[in-house]
Formats: sequence, C-alpha cells, structure tokens
Amino acid sequence: MHTLSLPRVFSLLFAFCVAATFFGQDLIARQAPIDRKMKTVDSVSINRVMKRAEVTNYENTELYTSWNTSKVHCYANATLPESYRIDLRGFAMPTPSRVVTSKFGYRPAFRRMHKGLDIKVYTGDTIVAAFDGKVRIVDYEAAGYGYYVVIRHKNGLETIYGHLSKQLVKSGDMVKAGEVIGLGGNTGRSYGSHLHFETRLLGVAINPALLFDFANQDVTGDYFVFHANEDYSGSSPRLVAKTDQGSEHTIGGAVAMQQSKHYKVSRGETLYSIAEKTGLTVATLCDLNGISASEKLKPGQILNLRH
Ligand SMILES: [Zn+2]
Repeated sequence: MHTLSLPRVFSLLFAFCVAATFFGQDLIARQAPIDRKMKTVDSVSINRVMKRAEVTNYENTELYTSWNTSKVHCYANATLPESYRIDLRGFAMPTPSRVVTSKFGYRPAFRRMHKGLDIKVYTGDTIVAAFDGKVRIVDYEAAGYGYYVVIRHKNGLETIYGHLSKQLVKSGDMVKAGEVIGLGGNTGRSYGSHLHFETRLLGVAINPALLFDFANQDVTGDYFVFHANEDYSGSSPRLVAKTDQGSEHTIGGAVAMQQSKHYKVSRGETLYSIAEKTGLTVATLCDLNGISASEKLKPGQILNLRH
C-alpha cells in the first residue's frame, strides 16, 4: 500500500494553502476596484450634498451681504446693528497655548492700536478655526499680518490669524471649529513666533479677551452681546463682557493704565507683572526706562510707559 510520507503531507498541505490564498486573493482583487469605485462615487455625492448643506449652515446672511476675498477691512459702509448676540457655543480655542504675550489696546511705544491678542506659539504649532465658518481670505502682508487667514463665521464674527508659517486652507473653504487652518510662525511684522488673533464684527475689532479666556482655554460665556454704541477699541477705562446670564466681568482694566505716561511700582511687582498689566512687553519697558530685564524694581519707583 502506498502511504504518504510526513514531508509529502506537508508539501501537499502547503500547495493547497498557496492555491487557496491565490484563489482568495483573486476574488478580492476582482472585487476591490468595484468596491473602491462605489465608495468614491458615494463619498463624492455625499460630500457634495454635505458641502451644500454646510454652505447654508456656515454663512451669516444677517450681518453680511458682500464677500470680499482680498480686503480684510471692507466694511466702511456697513451699518452696525444696535445690538447683536454672538453665540460662542461650539467654539474651539485657536491654540492650546495659554500664554498671552501682548494684549489688545493702544501701544504707546508704537503709537498705534493693537487690534488683537498675541498668543505665544512656536513655528509649526497647529492653529485651528475658532468656530465653524467659511474662509474669506488667505493672503500675505509683509508689513503686517504676514501669512494670514480670515474666516467669517455663522455667529457674526470674523476671526483673523496672523504671522503664520503655513496656511492650510483656501479662500472659500468651509471649516469646522477645531479644524487645522495653518501653522504658527513669525512672518510679517512679528518679533518672535506668536499667533496674532483678532475677533471682529462687521469690521469692528472686539478685544478677543472679552470672548476667549486663553489662560483657562474657555470662552467667557455662552453668548457675547455686541452693542454698536459701546467702545471696544480698548481706550475706555473698563471693558465689560456681558454674558447672557447677566453676569459681568471686567477684563480690560489694564488697558486704561496704558493711557498714562507713568507707572508707579507697587510692592511685589516685577517687570513681568507690569508688562502683563500694561500690555507692553518686558523689552519695551526696559527700552523705555533704560533698564535691564533683570532689574529689581523698588516699590514707589516710577516707570515710563511712553517715550
Ligand atoms: Zn499682534
């Protein structure tokens, strides 16, 4: 009787397995392109439907009637609503950084308004959209914003992200809150990598600190009520954030201080704490007062806040 030797059994088994694998793969190979093709068709048509829904969902036709893809400030002739409730729910913090390096308000050293917040980020850090919206501008400004992105949001705000090293969206793109729009950088008029972040309503710059609390990575309330007759320029002594819950909290106290020419040092204050309070940088304070950053301040000492 002919018997199979053990090695022969193995080799037969092996051959069977190889054949089965080939056969199986052939089946998969023949089916795969069809599956893939169907998936492509599906996703394209679904995407198209979704995009269309997003266009109507993401746009604010209440406040905005024009669509300008080159000029940041194009609302000179727009009529401001007497008051407008901005829905801050569904926000995303543009960066996880909690460090505000320069506040909103008048900069005596430069004799000009700083219409945003500077937040410390490093070149290459991801920057995300603050709310759902439609990208209006993706451009470069050598003497200002550097590489920047402007997004118009359904809640009425427009947000500006400046000094980016890379822009990752195009004008007309629909973006979701939290979607990456670019990378942090040091382009344009910038000294040290940071994100310059602006929040505007029909071109009126609102101190972003009234809406976003970077230190706590949160918004200041569910809603912010914009009033046309209120001064958001930072020159008023108090900027009061009104939330829908009726609570009020002052954020801009330090802005008023910037208006004065001198600053009297109190006990325990440092150049860093004064820089934080006045919205100036330590370097500017040093420059204005002819001192070094390591200088120990004495209570009662008078510092210059302007030239
Ligand atoms: Zn800035």
